[in-house]
Amino acid sequence: MRVQVDAGQCQGHGLCQMTSPEVFALRDEDGHAYPLHEEVGSDLAEAARSGADACPERAISVE
Ligand code: SF4
Repeated sequence: MRVQVDAGQCQGHGLCQMTSPEVFALRDEDGHAYPLHEEVGSDLAEAARSGADACPERAISVE
């Protein structure tokens, strides 16, 4: 499963990181999110989806 954050859409709310800190982190420079792993296995799939669902900007794609 591939996790991506669209940097152009991310507004740095941090909800993805608060919801799923095992999948998402925030950059010190600009506060925008990035995935800790671009590919996640089934153990982190639920957390990846929860983080994506928490994003009000719909900036996260999980495929
Ligand atoms: S919740 Fe969405 S907008 Fe907020 S930091 Fe995460 S990816 Fe960016």
